[in-house]
Amino acid sequence: MIDLHSHTTESDGTLSPAELVDAALTAGLEALAISDHDTLTGFDEAVPYARQRGLDLVCGIELSTKLNGKTVHLLGYFLWGSPSGEFRTWLHDMQESRRDRNRRLAVRLQELGLDITLEEVEQRGGRMTGRPHFAKVMKAKGYVPTIQAAFDDYLDESAKGYVDRLEPQLKEGIERIVQGGGIASIAHPVRIAPLNQLRDLVAGMAADGMRAIEVYHSDHGPDAEAELMALAQDFNLRPTGGSDFHGDVKPNIQLGTGPGHLRIPKSVLDRLREPL
Ligand code: AMP
Ligand code: ZN
Ligand code: FE
Ligand code: FE
Repeated sequence: MIDLHSHTTESDGTLSPAELVDAALTAGLEALAISDHDTLTGFDEAVPYARQRGLDLVCGIELSTKLNGKTVHLLGYFLWGSPSGEFRTWLHDMQESRRDRNRRLAVRLQELGLDITLEEVEQRGGRMTGRPHFAKVMKAKGYVPTIQAAFDDYLDESAKGYVDRLEPQLKEGIERIVQGGGIASIAHPVRIAPLNQLRDLVAGMAADGMRAIEVYHSDHGPDAEAELMALAQDFNLRPTGGSDFHGDVKPNIQLGTGPGHLRIPKSVLDRLREPL
């Protein structure tokens, strides 16, 4: 059993890279991909420890990109070693744009009457401060009863506090991953569109260079899994899969098994590793 989708404290997970390696071994995983949002730092940090503990650690990343004006998540695998140099430089530019969004988001929330500073949010989020950290501060200060309410009332794309961020187009994300020597896989496709509308979108992604698709995911029931596997076969995409583990912030999702039903065989990774 493997898990190719997980997050550490370097993005919005609650386990450090080393703790996640330990958790993967405890869960009996044969391989783990760390796929933090827009950063490879957690993976890089975990590499020596995983080697020492004998865990097969896979390099992953989950990029936020735009498709038809909406955010879609794109997974990239194997962006490791020298071919990924340019990709890593590009990532730093993306991180700067996130920081710029955070600055403007703090101002926007202040305009809406909330006493929240960027500094106190960054104290929680560190290098990868994001909207979930804003939500935590809003809850801690009593402006909202729950994290979800912070999103519903202020931070969601449709809410009054939303501030846009420069995100690459999905096509650019795919191209950057390919140029960096990686393989691109569209994350949790069911969040993009209803299953019956995915075919044309996936065709476009395959034409842009995407070579994999996340078939197994905590959000996918048996029907979605079967439909996505059929799409994968039709477009010659390799299936990928993972729990999207975030630690305590998503307590119902376990490493490897997700909400309970996930069992991703090692053969998925073997196939992903075959030369294109
Ligand atoms: P950011 O990358 O800073 O824009 O934050 C994105 C993260 O915020 C996502 O990965 C989710 O964890 C969370 N998020 C975004 N929209 C919502 C929502 N409507 N409800 C709950 N969490 C959300
Ligand atoms: Zn996340
Ligand atoms: Fe995602
Ligand atoms: Fe994720």
